[in-house]
Amino acid sequence: MAIEARVLIIGGGVTGTGVARDLALRGVPCLLLEKRDINAGASGGNHGLLHSGARYVASDMEAAVECREEGEILRRISPQCIEDTGGLFVAVQGDDEDYVADFPSLCTRSSIPSRKLDPAEVRELEPALSDRVIAAYAVEDAAVDPFMLSLDNLSHSLTLGGSVQRNARVTAVETEGGRIRRVRFVDGNSGAEHVVEPEIVVNAAGAWAGLVAEMAGAHIDLLYSSGCLLVTQDRISRRVVNRLRKASDADILVPGGTVSVLGTTSVTVDHPDHCRPTVEEADRIIEDARAMMPILETTRYIRAYSGVRPLVLSGDAGDARSVSRGFSLIDHARDGLDNFVTITGGKLTTYRLMAERTADMVCAKLGIDAPCRTRTEPVPASAMGMWTEPGRAPRNWVDRRAEDDLVLCECEMVSRSVVDAIIAELGDMRGRSMLKAIGMRSRVGKGPCQGGFCGLRITGHLYDQGHLSGDRGIAELKAFVERRWRGFSPILWGLPLMQADLQEALYCGMLDMELARPEYFESEDGE
Ligand SMILES: Cc1cc2nc3c(=O)[nH]c(=O)nc-3n(C[C@H](O)[C@H](O)[C@H](O)COP(=O)(O)OP(=O)(O)OC[C@H]3O[C@@H](n4cnc5c(N)ncnc54)[C@H](O)[C@@H]3O)c2cc1C
Repeated sequence: MAIEARVLIIGGGVTGTGVARDLALRGVPCLLLEKRDINAGASGGNHGLLHSGARYVASDMEAAVECREEGEILRRISPQCIEDTGGLFVAVQGDDEDYVADFPSLCTRSSIPSRKLDPAEVRELEPALSDRVIAAYAVEDAAVDPFMLSLDNLSHSLTLGGSVQRNARVTAVETEGGRIRRVRFVDGNSGAEHVVEPEIVVNAAGAWAGLVAEMAGAHIDLLYSSGCLLVTQDRISRRVVNRLRKASDADILVPGGTVSVLGTTSVTVDHPDHCRPTVEEADRIIEDARAMMPILETTRYIRAYSGVRPLVLSGDAGDARSVSRGFSLIDHARDGLDNFVTITGGKLTTYRLMAERTADMVCAKLGIDAPCRTRTEPVPASAMGMWTEPGRAPRNWVDRRAEDDLVLCECEMVSRSVVDAIIAELGDMRGRSMLKAIGMRSRVGKGPCQGGFCGLRITGHLYDQGHLSGDRGIAELKAFVERRWRGFSPILWGLPLMQADLQEALYCGMLDMELARPEYFESEDGE
């Protein structure tokens, strides 16, 4: 029997979850389908920078203004997801002095606050900066937790009547008489195919939006730009630090809790699944960034990751950095499909605005006259999203002082009770790795051991609690470690290399993990 849903959203990144919440607040609960897990795409593979807009003042004034306005709104409605670090733009000897000279007036033109700082003053604020800094400005950048943001949006939409299926891959879209009639998806838990008959379909599949549109016979011209990011073992700066120059590689360092994230690159790939951090990108980032902060050459990196930006082409294709990073809202009435809408491109910072515009279009098509409420209505902090915050799990452990509450992840001090709370929120995870899902919703596996020790302990705990049986735990570990390996293989030198050797000895020497049966899980994209 077909599942009925007034609005079907395809894609569980920040855009899809934002649209789900916006529509739910207008009285239109939606069904959201995500082929893997929440934030499995670019929403889980970005810098986590809440842009002040200053980065775009020279290249894209509209994007700059959108970022400024949305940054102000998000600080009001989702303060729990934001660390208001402030930001700096710094130029070093050899950088383009014309760009430096134009920067303050370009900021003023977009009403983006910026304050000139003396190079000596800026090095007092951020001692890791190079002594070759020649100009510096303070701006209102911040760090945002994209996992908490999506999980809080999703959770709110569910309390308002929405529903979600993770591990649910849309495989076919059937059209009839100028409308989408049916959407087919495969439930990765059971392998069963299901059919949804929605009134409207929102394609929020990010970089995969073109592939979803093609299923309906529509076409979107997309360029896929993959970006690589490196995570440092310690927090290098208190503030976000941007290089004051035309957008290029390795020009942003974003602090997040106890670490910093350095990036990024822009490499055109031929498919959104073909995205993984490479040694060349890691080398290039470090080589470039050390001019801004010399410590970035010698610091220990614990992980690399990457995400794909879908850049919508209009007219001639330029290189990936010259194509607009604004968002595209497409009414597929242009392709003869009245009940199909695509929202793609854009930024984490502008997700709320993207969701608002999409929901406006959906409501107009449904004949619903309900205003958007997300500009002012706070996104409630949720049980789903709370454990992604660095420092929360250790605080909880210290406050509870429960003798039997063992710490399972020592690097990030995530205790057994926190793991149990996350499992309680997870629901059915057959067909997907519980360990990976726990890692996505917490700091597990994000510290220096990168899952080497906590992976084993949590797997043991999952057996104790009856969540795992037979040899499934080894397969769980393998899936988890393979994902982590993808992250640390490009940065293997020094200590991380020794750690990787130790991990191999533990997992393969002790547990024969390399022999684990892979058939428990659907293989990951690009793996
Ligand atoms: C390297 C990099 C750095 C960035 N840094 C920043 C930053 O610092 N600040 C900022 O504001 N923005 C940043 N961005 C941009 C930001 O990450 C994206 O704009 C945002 O995450 C896009 O969210 P989305 O929900 O539209 O797409 P995604 O997060 O990609 O979500 C799409 C979802 O659709 C799912 N899906 C695909 N196909 C199907 C299917 N057939 N069935 C079901 N589900 C499907 C995918 O699994 C995925 O979860 C960065 C982007 C990149 C790549």
